[in-house]
Amino acid sequence: MSARTYQIRTFGCQMNVHDSERLAGSLEESGYVPAEGDGTPDLIVFNTCAVRENADNKLYGTLGQVRPDRLANPDMQVAVGGCLAQKDRGEILARAPWVDVVFGTHNLGSLPTLLERARHNAEAQIEILESLETFPSTLPARRESAYAGWVSISVGCNNTCTFCIVPSLRGKERDRRPGEVLAEVEALVAEGVLEVTLLGQNVNSYGAEFGDKLAFGKLLRACGAVDGLERVRFTSPHPAAFSDDVIEAMAETPNVCHQLHMPLQSGSDRLLKEMRRSYRSARYLSILDRVREVMPDAAITTDIIVGFPGETEADFQATLDVVRQARFANAFTFQYSKRAGTPAAELDGQVPKAVVQERYERLIELQEEMAWRESKNLVGRKVELLVATGEGRKDAATHRMSGRARDGRLVHFAPAGAAVDRSVRPGDVVETVVTYGAPHHLVADGVLLSHRRTKAGDNVEAGLRPKTNGVGLGLPSFGAPSPGSVTTEGCAL
Ligand code: SF4
Repeated sequence: MSARTYQIRTFGCQMNVHDSERLAGSLEESGYVPAEGDGTPDLIVFNTCAVRENADNKLYGTLGQVRPDRLANPDMQVAVGGCLAQKDRGEILARAPWVDVVFGTHNLGSLPTLLERARHNAEAQIEILESLETFPSTLPARRESAYAGWVSISVGCNNTCTFCIVPSLRGKERDRRPGEVLAEVEALVAEGVLEVTLLGQNVNSYGAEFGDKLAFGKLLRACGAVDGLERVRFTSPHPAAFSDDVIEAMAETPNVCHQLHMPLQSGSDRLLKEMRRSYRSARYLSILDRVREVMPDAAITTDIIVGFPGETEADFQATLDVVRQARFANAFTFQYSKRAGTPAAELDGQVPKAVVQERYERLIELQEEMAWRESKNLVGRKVELLVATGEGRKDAATHRMSGRARDGRLVHFAPAGAAVDRSVRPGDVVETVVTYGAPHHLVADGVLLSHRRTKAGDNVEAGLRPKTNGVGLGLPSFGAPSPGSVTTEGCAL
């Protein structure tokens, strides 16, 4: 009997993208194989997001699309997990009775067992836990990339931002021990991975659970000692807890990238209070000043919400003022989305959609202008790029490839010149000079200054992606990527 095939469709943030790698690893450990090509897989898993209102509509719409296949094929299964499953629970089976399994954010590892039970009992299975059973990082992971890896350092969040549904769906913050984090980082590097991104809802408060307020800065420095690890990134920090020891660790640890994603949400102190963000605009800007003092080349990005309940034109002007001063390289901008169950949903003064839309357009216009000015200032700068898959495609018209600079910027470059060693592959590292700055990317059309072939580049060329085991890492095994197995639809939190 041939192995059952699976496909995972991921919605939402980096946490979900990484959780989907764990789900893929667990399914492959149970004998499933990634679906190939366009055929209907034996199993479709939806890893959902609940951060915005339209997330619900999107999921139920998509579940409707797979209904005909599911009803026509009794052997096929459909599973729904992630934040929306944690929120809606049995309602998913009521609204989509062709779904076989519903599982939550705290029990990723139970998916294979629930699928088996649903098939054996010919009955839909639902399992939602109120708190974390096992840390997801104890599960095997089928990694998406051969050169960059996500490493969870914590799950959940202890903050109570009034617009945010995450704490009620992902629970209180739980921290992994530094030793486990470093063991996973070392295992990834041993497989050729050059870059890791440390993941947490709020990485600054890492260590709160084991009583070490300086744990995050120490972890960054410890990553600095991992041989072969060339780039360390992290997401998401929180301005309230962003301390000097972290800024110094970033500046003094060579492999920590000078890139910072620092959510602002609003520039209005009155609204920051309403949002329960426990910092004010002056503090926020002072952090950026401190970062630029010791890392003048740092690229700073952010998240901003427009139209939070009660937002006046004056509040919005305060946000525009901070954007002018902050010189963000990029900003994820959102129109406020009322989420049932969050305190902000009960607030008076919900802003009319037309007003929100008009302000949103003004904010984007200003941020584009600021980002473009920052990019233009980089013309002539020498940059080191990690050549990226997907973004690293060969552009038929320009013959450019793409990669990420150390500050996180996307650079389209000409893979040409005497420095090229045979051919440039995703996963390799090149150096070049910026020749043009656009609002959301840079261009480097000159010849390469250097080209370093890497083990990651070899793995990409051989079509290999790492698979890591859980804590207590065993020997790595490589599997062939299959285009159909995991699809992602992002948002930033
Ligand atoms: S916005 Fe971020 S910090 Fe605030 S509650 Fe949500 S996850 Fe936590």
